[in-house]
Amino acid sequence: MKKLIAGNHKMFTGVKEGLALASEIARNAADFGNAQVVLFPPFTHLCVFHEQLQGLPLETGAQNCSDMPEGAFTGEVSAGMIKSTGATHVLLGHSERRTLFGEGHELLCRKINQALDAGLQVVYCFGENLQDMEEGHRFSKIEEQLQAVFESFSQDELDHLVLAYEPVWAIGTGKTASLHEAEEAHAFARELMRNKYGTDAGNELRILYGGSVKATNARELLSSSEIGGVLVGGASLDAAEFLQIIQAAG
Ligand code: PEP
Repeated sequence: MKKLIAGNHKMFTGVKEGLALASEIARNAADFGNAQVVLFPPFTHLCVFHEQLQGLPLETGAQNCSDMPEGAFTGEVSAGMIKSTGATHVLLGHSERRTLFGEGHELLCRKINQALDAGLQVVYCFGENLQDMEEGHRFSKIEEQLQAVFESFSQDELDHLVLAYEPVWAIGTGKTASLHEAEEAHAFARELMRNKYGTDAGNELRILYGGSVKATNARELLSSSEIGGVLVGGASLDAAEFLQIIQAAG
């Protein structure tokens, strides 16, 4: 299976700038090799990305979606609306949404439900923060975040879910988890899935690593069979660096 290389642009770039970034990446599509590339720009860019990148092996996704299908919810964007832009993915459970916007398990499960109903693939982020790590609660935090989802969805539904292990202490800090730390968290998540839905489901689960991934550490992370790809924040805003990360997938 190809490695999934995802770029989370967060709340950066105007439409023109974002499109120039995506076009520069798309121009090098011949080098994608073993990578499936998905860009997550702001909502405002999705339609134009899709129009301009048609026919190229570059998918798009949103960074969030509403937990409601439609209605009088000013400022919200539904999963169906995201799908209608041509996007294929949505990012849910990012630590910035959990900590800055108070998103908890119940809300996130409703959002996942909407995304699956709309036919989107979900990239669901999980991971411990520094305090969990220091107090020895790393695995209990991961278990809590994943069990809430595994228990709410069937095995068929979870086929449309990719996990992204993002230790909060590594996001935007320049600190990356060691390969060993990433692999043990991935193996733990896989084991939870095995316990719930059996060996094949656990083995087939695609788990990305995210947290200060750069051109300099991507090759080592992507060489691991435990790591199904990477979710890249800061470094995805630099086309040359993001292309090097894509090429590190082999
Ligand atoms: C992220 O936003 O998901 C992320 C991993 O950010 P960064 O690569 O900048 O740490």
